[in-house]
Amino acid sequence: MKRRQTIVYIMSNQRSGSTLIENILSKSTEIISVGETYLLGGYLHKKGPGSAWDWNCSCGSNLNDCDFWKKIFNRLKLKDLEVIKNTKIIYPKGPDKELIKEENKHVATLMNNIYNAVFDITHCSILVDSSKEAYHGISLYRNSQFNFKFIYLKRDLRAVSISRQKWRRKYDKENLSLLKLLLANYIHRINCWFLLRSVKKKDIYNLNYEDFFKNPQEIFNDMSEFIGFNSFSVPDYMELNDDHTIAGTPNRFEKRKIKYDDGWHDVAKKNPFFNFLGYILNKIG
Ligand SMILES: [Zn+2]
Repeated sequence: MKRRQTIVYIMSNQRSGSTLIENILSKSTEIISVGETYLLGGYLHKKGPGSAWDWNCSCGSNLNDCDFWKKIFNRLKLKDLEVIKNTKIIYPKGPDKELIKEENKHVATLMNNIYNAVFDITHCSILVDSSKEAYHGISLYRNSQFNFKFIYLKRDLRAVSISRQKWRRKYDKENLSLLKLLLANYIHRINCWFLLRSVKKKDIYNLNYEDFFKNPQEIFNDMSEFIGFNSFSVPDYMELNDDHTIAGTPNRFEKRKIKYDDGWHDVAKKNPFFNFLGYILNKIG
């Protein structure tokens, strides 16, 4: 019997290790990782997040020149790539609510077509989408023709906030205080939790970033059972080999040893109120 193809959607805060997880998973011959597909529209038209690497695919090419994405776009048989303006499903609200709902339907259909095209050209049976967005992910789940599963990835909110602040500074973005980032990350977490309540328990894998590093192999074996692929040894390094992913962590281009990054502890200690509030928010959920 032919197994139904599976979408694995990583839901998490930014800077939670989703690129690491997708990178390890993509080393399986059964799995293809495509990165953060909700940004695909922006990458095609060079708009929104991604300016730091000129919205290129992780292979280094522009999406219109990348061999992988070119094949996908050809497969979609679109008259014009302009059709792929937006690949993000957003919560419909405000005066344009009905328009947004219509647009969301188009995006859901387009995303299913893109997933199909990826399966067709790669012959993989599992696709990892590391978009991380809560409403976008749930909407795709509800409209999916595939076996659709979530990895709900959680990392210490203080680590996430400190890492986000660091990268925002590096890319000259508006400097946000650690407290603001902490609250924004917490709101995203609550949003994920709230929306995941409507997902069947058997379709969610709860992954804790800190726990992963305590026993990577055991957790990875567990994940392979949940997703349904043959497990293998967790690699020592995170590196790109023939990857064609959208977005992801800014330092994904260099080969890096896979290890727990505790650099944030010192920064947290220097900010006692942030450190304390983060501790409490982690405990709450
Ligand atoms: Zn590429």
